[in-house]
Amino acid sequence: MKGDPRDLGFSTRAVHAGQKPDPRTGSVSVPIYQTSTYVQDRLGEEVQYEYARVQNPTREALEEQVAMLERGHAGHAFASGMAAIAALMTIVKAGDHVVVSRNVYGGTYRYFTRILERYGLSFSWVDTTDLAAVEAALRPETKMVYLETPTNPMMDITDIAAASALAHAHGARVAVDNTFLSPYFQRPLDLGADFVVHSTTKFLNGHSDSIGGALISTSAEDSEWFALVSKSAGAILSPFDSFLVMRGIKTLAVRMERHEQNTRRIVELLAGHPKVQRVLYPGLPDFPGHEIQKRQASGFGSMITIEMGSFEAAKAMLDRMRVMSLAESLGGVESLISHPATMTHASIPRDRRALLGLTEGMVRISVGIEDVEDLLADLDQALAGV
Ligand SMILES: *Cc1c(COP(=O)(O)O)cnc(C)c1O
Repeated sequence: MKGDPRDLGFSTRAVHAGQKPDPRTGSVSVPIYQTSTYVQDRLGEEVQYEYARVQNPTREALEEQVAMLERGHAGHAFASGMAAIAALMTIVKAGDHVVVSRNVYGGTYRYFTRILERYGLSFSWVDTTDLAAVEAALRPETKMVYLETPTNPMMDITDIAAASALAHAHGARVAVDNTFLSPYFQRPLDLGADFVVHSTTKFLNGHSDSIGGALISTSAEDSEWFALVSKSAGAILSPFDSFLVMRGIKTLAVRMERHEQNTRRIVELLAGHPKVQRVLYPGLPDFPGHEIQKRQASGFGSMITIEMGSFEAAKAMLDRMRVMSLAESLGGVESLISHPATMTHASIPRDRRALLGLTEGMVRISVGIEDVEDLLADLDQALAGV
């Protein structure tokens, strides 16, 4: 296409943003510039590309694509979601205080508590679904409010607009980990957040074949800062992975629709099933946060947590699954099922898990895009064996 896709619809942006035809050949697909350096014609002449840690056309195309999907100023692609979060956290410095959703991704919890606290940052772990608790946690030295919504695996929903207004009134910036819903369903920057981070490993790439991360900023000043961090710390996404994520994003809209369609049917089965004690899914009308989610996002996503009542019941179910694979991670085309307490959240101390309400009987499902009848039959037979 010709021109700027900024004002076009989401699916059009997903397919076209950043995807300029290759200037040499007209190649429709952005080539993988698998190079470490670039030849310079003459000494001292200014060139656009010098060294591939700093500039790579494949990575730049992906960065423009994600920036346009989140409606940000610029995107920055990193070697993992955690590398993107690490780059984001260079916004704060020693002495600063950060308010964090208490049920953030386990790796984020580990990075903040085990690494960043050593650098003089302090964190308050807050139930950010409770705006009064957010307000009470804000201090004069609070420089960032870090949100994840919905959370994993408790599906806590934070009101992004309201939390952002509180943070901004106190002079703090707002970051949102938008991995669970992707920009197809939720755009935190439109709701007032200053930064969005993603593990592109999940829905953006969507095919469980790459580890990557993205950070989207909203001002020229921040974008310049993150470009400096990216070239200085160097945790960039490789050209090949950039290509994979870009390709994945082109089908994000159709995948997300199918993910959610399948999820609705599965939630229906699980919510009425005698072996399932509780279903945590923001799409259920009586789920806390349902109304906020309806207002701030255009969908409920494809992550479900169920309570099986005990570790033994959870294990009996998991060991019987045939189509859904027992694995960590989420957001791929294939359905994955996991046991948070011993898998993704094993590094969270037991008493903290109890505080969050994360039990040994919980099972988490990332619903894929397979034929839903096969997924329903798989769950049915596994639950029958419990
Ligand atoms: C997976 C994940 C991360 C970390 O991403 P990696 O690509 O594994 O480094 C961060 N946040 C959320 C919500 C995630 O699911």
